[in-house]
Amino acid sequence: MSSKTTKITPVTTSMNSLWVSPTQVIQGEGIISQTGKVIARLGQRPLVVGGNHSLKLISSHLKPIFQKFGLTAVFDSYAPDCSETSLKNLSQTSQDHQADLIIGVGGGKALDTAKLLAHQQQLPIVTIPTSGATCAAWTALSNIYSNQGAFQYDVPLSRCPDLLILDYNLIKTAPKRTLVAGIGDAIAKWYEASVSSGNSTATLTIAAVQQARVLRDILLQKSATALDNIGGEDWQEVVNATVLLAGVIGGLGGANCRTVAAHAVHNGLTHISAAHDALHGEKVAYGILVQLRLEEIIQGNQLAVASRQQLLKFYEEIGLPKSLEELGLSQVTLAELRHAAVVTCHPNSDIHRLPFKVSPEQLLSAMVSTLAEN
Ligand SMILES: [Zn+2]
Repeated sequence: MSSKTTKITPVTTSMNSLWVSPTQVIQGEGIISQTGKVIARLGQRPLVVGGNHSLKLISSHLKPIFQKFGLTAVFDSYAPDCSETSLKNLSQTSQDHQADLIIGVGGGKALDTAKLLAHQQQLPIVTIPTSGATCAAWTALSNIYSNQGAFQYDVPLSRCPDLLILDYNLIKTAPKRTLVAGIGDAIAKWYEASVSSGNSTATLTIAAVQQARVLRDILLQKSATALDNIGGEDWQEVVNATVLLAGVIGGLGGANCRTVAAHAVHNGLTHISAAHDALHGEKVAYGILVQLRLEEIIQGNQLAVASRQQLLKFYEEIGLPKSLEELGLSQVTLAELRHAAVVTCHPNSDIHRLPFKVSPEQLLSAMVSTLAEN
């Protein structure tokens, strides 16, 4: 599965350094047309990285800006995935063009690719999300996948983006399903940060966990109305929650608010090819139910039962998957599921941030029983 290129080494810091937020965030409806001056301040020869669809969408917005401010740009796709192969190809494009700025456009994988490319080339980076599906536009972290889309490892970056442009008119055009997935990814912050922070008494960690609780409450309260009225006030606030506030929590919490079982289950599921049609946040949302189920099965935690029942109702209301069947995995074989469970329980996996040991067998029984009555 893994490609032949050398593994990208993460930046190791002996200091406790925090990258809380992008240097600048510009948000508004149709705001992209006014960002020329700010972009030109960061570089004159941008390389714009995105998926084919996003590049088409964005070029009609960016080309007039580039022309007006005299920037020479090239556009290139991150296909086949946010993988070592794509990064190698894009590095070549960047060097050929003598790029002095990277602009990432699209969803999580496009933005992760662009951020990591900028990190490797030591260039400034602008992120322009085209959906509310993840907080990738904000964070100093990229996930690396195989060319086939299987999760490999993550790379901490040297800083958050220099500029994040959140244009609601762009996000509005994205399929509704992407925001639903974003809600699943963002709500996981509470269930994961409250576990991984342990009993920390560090001020910023406490603050990050409390922000995660606020984020959960905003999503529980506003998601249904937001999805009924795309472009409305609640919709805009839910987008702010999934794209911005979710990023704040990762930035503020740093290493003390890492992902736990929900994302580990996601990572395991990416090794099942039939799961590739499910979006990141959909797999993570299902992963939260699995995490709660583990707390129930292994710890006998009654609070986890109540949390899971609350989420099942919420998922039903907004259309997040509650089971393997709803993730599109009703035909998956036991061998494939077992493989995903073994990957999820790999020694380096974040699932081991849970305060108890988890075996692939226990994980399997949690994965198939997310709908259990109690
Ligand atoms: Zn995520």
